[in-house]
Amino acid sequence: MTRYVYDFVEGNKDLKVLLGGKGANLAEMTRMGLPVPPGFTVTTEACREYLRTGSMPTGLFDEVEDHLRMVQNQIGKVFGDAKDPLLLSVRSGAQFSMPGMMETILDIGLGDASVAGLARQTGDERFAWDSYRRLIQMFGKTVFDVPGDAFEEELTAARSTAGVATDAELGTAQLLDLVYAYKKVFNEHTGRDFPQASHEQLFLAIGAVFRSWNADRAALYRRQERIPQDLGTAVNVMAMVFGNRGEDSGTGVAFTRDPATGRRGVYGDYLRNAQGEDVVAGIRNTMSLSELATIDPASHRQLLSVMQRLEQRYRDLCDVEFTIENGKLWMLQTRVGKRTPAAAFVIAAQLVDEGTITLDEALHRVTGGQLAQLMFPSFDTDAAPPPLATGVGASPGAAVGAIVFDSAAAEAATEPVILVRRETNPDDLPGMIAAQGVLTSRGGKTSHAAVVARGMGKTCVCGAEELDIDGDEVTVAGRILHAGDVISIDGTSGKIYPGAVAVRPSSVVRWFEGELTAHGDPLLSAVERLMIHADHRARLAVHANADTGADAARARRFGATGVGLCRTEHMFLGDRRVLIERLILGDDGALADLLPLQRADFEELFAAMDGMPMTVRLIDPPLHEFLPPLDELTARVARAEALGQDPGRDGTLLTAVRRMHEQNPMLGLRGVRLGLVIPGLFAMQVRAIAEAAAARVAAGGDPRPEIMVPLVGAVQELETVRAEAEKVLASVPGAPPIRIGTMIEVPRAALTAGQIAGAAEFFSFGTNDLTQMTWGFSRDDVEGAFFGTYLGLGIFAVSPFETIDSDGVGELVRIAVERGRAARPGLTVGVCGEHGGDPASVRFFHDAGLDYVSCSPFRVPIARLEAGRAASAADGSDSR
Ligand code: ADP
Ligand code: MG
Ligand code: MG
Repeated sequence: MTRYVYDFVEGNKDLKVLLGGKGANLAEMTRMGLPVPPGFTVTTEACREYLRTGSMPTGLFDEVEDHLRMVQNQIGKVFGDAKDPLLLSVRSGAQFSMPGMMETILDIGLGDASVAGLARQTGDERFAWDSYRRLIQMFGKTVFDVPGDAFEEELTAARSTAGVATDAELGTAQLLDLVYAYKKVFNEHTGRDFPQASHEQLFLAIGAVFRSWNADRAALYRRQERIPQDLGTAVNVMAMVFGNRGEDSGTGVAFTRDPATGRRGVYGDYLRNAQGEDVVAGIRNTMSLSELATIDPASHRQLLSVMQRLEQRYRDLCDVEFTIENGKLWMLQTRVGKRTPAAAFVIAAQLVDEGTITLDEALHRVTGGQLAQLMFPSFDTDAAPPPLATGVGASPGAAVGAIVFDSAAAEAATEPVILVRRETNPDDLPGMIAAQGVLTSRGGKTSHAAVVARGMGKTCVCGAEELDIDGDEVTVAGRILHAGDVISIDGTSGKIYPGAVAVRPSSVVRWFEGELTAHGDPLLSAVERLMIHADHRARLAVHANADTGADAARARRFGATGVGLCRTEHMFLGDRRVLIERLILGDDGALADLLPLQRADFEELFAAMDGMPMTVRLIDPPLHEFLPPLDELTARVARAEALGQDPGRDGTLLTAVRRMHEQNPMLGLRGVRLGLVIPGLFAMQVRAIAEAAAARVAAGGDPRPEIMVPLVGAVQELETVRAEAEKVLASVPGAPPIRIGTMIEVPRAALTAGQIAGAAEFFSFGTNDLTQMTWGFSRDDVEGAFFGTYLGLGIFAVSPFETIDSDGVGELVRIAVERGRAARPGLTVGVCGEHGGDPASVRFFHDAGLDYVSCSPFRVPIARLEAGRAASAADGSDSR
């Protein structure tokens, strides 16, 4: 028969799946000989069984009674005894910590008879009645769903009748009245009297804790934290200890290090003469642990030594709940504590210094996501005025700008702006790109604004419902703001401030930029140390996507060891659009005029990445993207004709634009297809690359260009381009050897990678296009349209544009790597989509055997850290 109940002395910290985190850690503390009240844990398996069948599993009653006898023996009191009752707490505790999401009931076992016994035994009548009223309140709420307000109203009434400000000041007589009032509330809402039988209370409480697994807020929390919905919670039953027995009693929470900064030294709050959750509820002002040291030095000393032992045992920062009853310390909970990203780095480095963990382990105490958070600028909150409103912090960052209400205004603005809208849609994209930040009054973390802003790394606060946005003004907190008024939005906290709040650039970014030294700064020293170790461990190289010399130089400062994607399309923008127009209109001289411009661009880039590989992608987007939009041209031509003028060049352009119009440009004439259809275009680019490289060599540089052909689906495409390119390369004297490779971004290319490798010296996965083409949707069209729904339905756990879809797109990657390398051993394989900077995707690319990832310069450090983590996880060796 399945066993459902384990004594604290039987478990240990590694049994979280069965006993839940709280139960496993209570067991561990018990084994360590720490002062834990005796008790036992009902397993998560019993909970699953209960939730499945709707009733307590067979045998559970007897098992609980058996273990209860053990607790009674240890304490020397009997549960339900009228003269000297044992009281119990019944606590939830799942495998993963879900703070405050489920239920706990204290003081189980009290009734009309035993409350008097408890008063006599302890000589403290007030305490007995206080415990009883707490029980009726918690039990009513948790087991019978009595609305908490009903009790709170009585409590408030009692305080005002007594003329006191806090519960602690209520006297015995008033608490007795309160118990009477609570019982009436209980009866009114449940149609029955408060149960007096202690064993009935116990089993009703266990069932209620089981059910609290399915409470709405708990389910929502699990969805957000990606905790499976079917785990169930364990239930911990343990003897009560009392912090509400007067001034030599109290209850507190503490951390073994500062969870905000990581600084060494214990941090905590203590509340005298209080029970359970009074501390976190913020009912009364708490005292610090150092104040505890003055009022109860013995307990304080013992607490510090317990905390030190816990850190040694868990080899990490721990947090604890404790209670002092008449000067005796009891430990009620511990776990490895949550911490800020900064604290995570600092603590990991400290633990290495202290000899507690190895550097490899330290790498696994931090994440790329945490590093990313440390790289956002932040507001100097000391200098900030009170916020106007608070919305959902959807995409981190600190943005300051003048309000604009539409995308066109954002694009037209010359000063920094914040795009303020009720909600955004794909038409707002240009404005979102132009703005410093995006603020909406509707929608949550999966709204269009949120999803797109996160994708762009743009600061976004969404769903700020206190904002009333009406045309060209917004009303908030009694103020009316107009276009042009400056506001500040914090994408982490969701706060919206009036005016320009001072922004602090991230010190971590300034350190990467070389503007700060790490020396003497605990956070920067920790980051430096872990980055060095990550680089040392990493097998994947990290390159950057950089289109300009300035980007390339920054990428280098951030630790990139090459440029994995240099797009050339920006070289056709601005003044140069005219040259593309001429090219499209069949002017043969256009390419010749472009050549020197491109050559100069490449010289600058090669100089910035001297001595490092630089992969240049030949032009990819459809050429009509460089022409004026159809509607604009149509209007111009119509106007000219109406005035009886000759539309001239506009007329010719309009004909060209109409001819080139595509229903699905993403699937149209672009990439290698352009190179094959427009004579001389690719050849001109190849020549510019080769001549720029030759010039750099002549100037004493070490340029290492590679040429990458986009959108290849068939080896024949690549062979044709290659033959032409090789001819050009051979004709440029003094150029270094230049490899020619291809992007793998069309599913057919992945499937025929064996053939394609015959003509490619390297592969680079374009995972953005590969994702679009594998799923058959276009990113620009779908993110705002239905990604929110899909995420809600659980069809995606995360957007496949954010983290690589390892089952689908990832399978194509694995296939292409295998077939490509089989055909050409030693083939270099990298990735240059946005996924190259996503922590989970970096892990995938490591496992898939790629040689490098390439991402935007800002994400280079994140990819480096994750590459190191991936490699040290795989090898697991120790390198202290
Ligand atoms: P949560 O998971 O929400 O923190 P807990 O199960 O830890 O809930 O319990 C809520 C509060 O009750 C905590 O402050 C805890 O310390 C206190 N508590 C739990 N069990 C006991 C006990 N046996 N004696 C005294 N206080 C207790
Ligand atoms: Mg707790
Ligand atoms: Mg592409």
